[in-house]
Amino acid sequence: MQYDVIVIGSGPGGYVAAIRCAQLGLKTAVIEKYSTFGGTCLNVGCIPSKALLDTSEHYHNAAHNFADHGINLSNLKIDIKKMIARKNDVIAQNTAGITFLFKKNKIDSFEGVGSFVDKNTIKITKSDGTTEEIKGKNVIVATGSKPTALPFLPIDKKRIITSTEALNLNEVPKHLIVIGGGVIGLELGSVYARLGAKVSVIEYAKSIISTMDGGLGKELQRVLKKSLGMEFFLGHKVTGASVKGKNVTVTAEDTKGASVSFEGDYCIVSVGRIAYTKDLGLENIGITAEERSNKIPVNDHLETAVAGVYAIGDVVKGAMLAHKAEDEGIYVAERIAGQKPHIDYNLIPGVVYTWPEVASVGKTEEQLKEAGKKYKAGSFSFKASGRAKASGDTDGFVKVLADIETDEVLGVHIIGPRAADIIAEAVVAMEYRASAEDIGRICHAHPTYTEALKEAALAATANRAIHA
Ligand code: FAD
Repeated sequence: MQYDVIVIGSGPGGYVAAIRCAQLGLKTAVIEKYSTFGGTCLNVGCIPSKALLDTSEHYHNAAHNFADHGINLSNLKIDIKKMIARKNDVIAQNTAGITFLFKKNKIDSFEGVGSFVDKNTIKITKSDGTTEEIKGKNVIVATGSKPTALPFLPIDKKRIITSTEALNLNEVPKHLIVIGGGVIGLELGSVYARLGAKVSVIEYAKSIISTMDGGLGKELQRVLKKSLGMEFFLGHKVTGASVKGKNVTVTAEDTKGASVSFEGDYCIVSVGRIAYTKDLGLENIGITAEERSNKIPVNDHLETAVAGVYAIGDVVKGAMLAHKAEDEGIYVAERIAGQKPHIDYNLIPGVVYTWPEVASVGKTEEQLKEAGKKYKAGSFSFKASGRAKASGDTDGFVKVLADIETDEVLGVHIIGPRAADIIAEAVVAMEYRASAEDIGRICHAHPTYTEALKEAALAATANRAIHA
């Protein structure tokens, strides 16, 4: 065999798996069909969306919040071309970083579409149509996902768009219609709402971010409406969309089944993502993807039914998140090297990068109730946080859920400033099976947003929050 491991796909699952394999002394190759490494996350996902969220947040603060600090600006303008160019530069810096890391770790990389000839042989088809075959003892499939479409709603990529096109608009929409009130729709909706677009979110479920703890969606909806004027149409079933010139019409059934329509100039369809296995040649090794999700079936060790062929990240079961894909990449690399790694899927945090940010780990109240688990809840509002008052970010709260008898922390749910960073403390605490009182007794620097987590933990311990 030429290689110990061949990785197909260079997203956060694939590139991290390849680097860990190389660190463990395994001779490793990566195949990527695009000319840049990093997959969805670095090219059209996590990183570019955060770059635009940062730009638009600066703009929104300058337009609406600076005056509170006594900073007065006039003639404020957004240069959208510059915003997009900066975002592209951020992508370029990150993808170049992967190229550097592959070289540093002596990983061979191939540009082209990888497909199975047999379980140890991968054919690489390059963009000019030429092919090459490489052989490996183990193969890790990390081919990721792509946006899902609604069968009755054609995406023209100009006016009716996916997240990918929404990262490259050359104007601020007048009225942006977002289909889907999940993470991606709310993040991209926020970007353009902050830049001045009217944004309407149409969501089939009864709440936005409906898979997270119920309290978070309610508070986020309230704040996005208050601070950005975003409109929400919950319990609405989209039935179609059409484009005429620069105008988009979206039709839906409202909560009572009556037909309603929305007129805008852009519509983002963000109704989820589907695993991507096109051209992989899975049939050549006897693997069939699951029917609706298209996910590749794997066992608890992320190995497919074919020994030595593994799959990780968005293309397998579980949350479609970059850090989940990364952890699975490390897991499989270490398994191949004969180690006994571990992933606790209960402790994979979920984050929404709106402002305020939303972040969660562990069980929601809904899940605990459904499981019949007795728990206690402690909440602390950012209104009572000195740090939040100083920065003017008083929306939101922290909620700690703990076992009623043992006080072990079962879930932490945050909406508020820098929630994405605060949640890391909750993950560490839960990894070490901390009690709420443990968190409440740990010294937190003052003044910080993290003190709200300590206070919520004290509230859960025995209603002992100091500043509530
Ligand atoms: P991917 O990143 O999708 O990478 C798969 C790679 O495989 C691609 O480069 C593809 O070209 C390549 N490939 C596919 N088939 C072949 C083949 N046959 N041969 C060769 N190469 C192939 N997650 C977060 O955790 N945090 C966020 O903030 C976040 N924000 C997001 C924002 C947006 C707008 C989107 C769309 C997604 C976001 N995600 C976020 C999700 C995150 O991007 C994915 O969970 C993550 O990229 C999955 O990693 P992966 O390695 O499984 O697959």
